[in-house]
Amino acid sequence: MKIKVCGLKHPENIEAVAALQPDYVGFIFYDKTPRYAAGLSADALQAIPASIQKTGVFVNESAENIDKLIAEYGFNAIQLHGDESPEFCAAFKGRVTVIKAFGLNEDFDFEQLKDYANNVDLFLFDTKTKIYGGSGKTFDWTILDQYKLDIPFFLSGGIGPENIAEVKNITHPQFYGVDLNSRFEIEPGLKNIEKLKDAFNIVKNKIQQMKYGVNEQGYYGDFGGAYIPEMLYPNVEELRQQYLTILNDDGFKAEFDDLLKNYVGRPSPLYHAKRYSEKYGANIFFKREDLNHTGSHKINNAIGQILLAKRLGKKRIIAETGAGQHGVATATVCALMGIECVVYMGEIDMARQAPNVSRMKMLGAKVVPATSGSKTLKDATNEALRDWIGNPVDTHYIIGSVVGPYPYPDMVARFQSIISAETKKQLVEYTGSELPQYVLACVGGGSNAMGMFYHFLDDESVKLVAVEAAGKGVNSGESAATTALGNEGVLHGSRTILMQTEDGQVVEPYSISAGLDYPGIGPQHAHLFKSHRGEYVSITDDEALQAGLLCCQLEGIIPAIETAHALAQLEKMKFEANDNVVICISGRGDKDLDTYIKYFGY
Ligand SMILES: *Cc1c(COP(=O)(O)O)cnc(C)c1O
Repeated sequence: MKIKVCGLKHPENIEAVAALQPDYVGFIFYDKTPRYAAGLSADALQAIPASIQKTGVFVNESAENIDKLIAEYGFNAIQLHGDESPEFCAAFKGRVTVIKAFGLNEDFDFEQLKDYANNVDLFLFDTKTKIYGGSGKTFDWTILDQYKLDIPFFLSGGIGPENIAEVKNITHPQFYGVDLNSRFEIEPGLKNIEKLKDAFNIVKNKIQQMKYGVNEQGYYGDFGGAYIPEMLYPNVEELRQQYLTILNDDGFKAEFDDLLKNYVGRPSPLYHAKRYSEKYGANIFFKREDLNHTGSHKINNAIGQILLAKRLGKKRIIAETGAGQHGVATATVCALMGIECVVYMGEIDMARQAPNVSRMKMLGAKVVPATSGSKTLKDATNEALRDWIGNPVDTHYIIGSVVGPYPYPDMVARFQSIISAETKKQLVEYTGSELPQYVLACVGGGSNAMGMFYHFLDDESVKLVAVEAAGKGVNSGESAATTALGNEGVLHGSRTILMQTEDGQVVEPYSISAGLDYPGIGPQHAHLFKSHRGEYVSITDDEALQAGLLCCQLEGIIPAIETAHALAQLEKMKFEANDNVVICISGRGDKDLDTYIKYFGY
């Protein structure tokens, strides 16, 4: 859902509003309102980032004057509030985004909208008043539900601090965003930044992700929830109650941003891969999470959770790890904060991934072998949960992907969402638009993919492609292609899609890449898959290794074998020449050198 802030006129206030990153800002050029922006210098609009649409708002202005003001202020959008005809609007379409505003009441003639739908890009609905422009009064939003609209609309009309949260109940499929104006002001034309900030948080948390995001019960459509033993309830409930408050706290955000910048090395580059672009006939971009400290995206989440644990007053961290990547990221942030760290790891995995065990120990973590069952990841997870039940007060459990009971999937997705937030801004610099045609990422539990998809979920023109590991082939019996082979059930505390036998036993997954060797996917992925918002495909070991080598030789980048799965999918896609395609390079391949060397015989 989009946010527009309208009626700005003071340069410093404009800057402060722009820093909140709305999607649109509006400047009113109508001399009968106290928000008239006539005195504003064009320079004041220069500082507004390109990701924000600058909107000129007019009432029965001449086309000539509108053109003049578009040129002078560099507007990307215009909003027409008067009696402008469909033909009048049409003359601007294609050059700028055209928003036609209407005042609504019980007598409003919805038929007239048909004539406009082809000639404008968006509608904006406000309360009907005798004078032109908004009235600041709320109208009954449910009126709209009776009408099928052909284009999306903004809702205006007295949205204020006290009713903003109700906007999430609007279910109209064309509902596009909210327009915030007079109810967030100190005086006409001067916005109250604190009130706006609160409103933005409400919109971003509760509403933006409403279609593909989590609801208040912790569900994404049919998936998610918290299926946990009663003994764990107090731990998970404490997290559920606290996590959004902590994540939205300014002090928390400042510390998180600072560490991402100065410790992890963010923003990670968005790199235009020219030789890939030539080979595949589209503009291919790599989002370089491999350049992060510790070599993958996992550190984003580990940093977020250690800061959260500190604020919850926890003195001890536990984690589970399969191949050791998440264990190393967790041990790293514990060293950074001087907090005790215990990592559970299957005994067999410890033998297979000895260097990572050593790394964790060097970082000061205690690595505890899980000796039950198959002595791998799921047994390590069980041991970690047992530990948590025994130490509910002082210990925080850092889960490494968008899996587990609510709120973990949502919390981890938020920490990883920095990937798509940065990508949008960086893409504007290259292409002039923040929206690519395709976004690709590999999926184990799904955290790098969720981070890569997060801010594109509502932009339905962007195709989301999730690549799972087919191992030795989807039907070989040695695979981790969850969506192809699995069905609905409960895994690690949430309802999702997993690979299971007819009597509900979890099937042992297989992939050559340890990070994708997981029998399920996070619940949000299950929802994206079932609702067809995302396309879920799979790539075999052989295809991935070949794609990994190709990336070395075409771009001088040795990718993690997990990442190589996403790269391999390019071979199977058909692009138009101008398509922009972003691939999440989730990690670097140093850890996989042995596997590459064995396979290719270097
Ligand atoms: C762990 C890992 C993955 C898989 O985990 P997700 O939660 O699915 O992102 C992918 N790539 C790399 C480099 C990893 O370390």
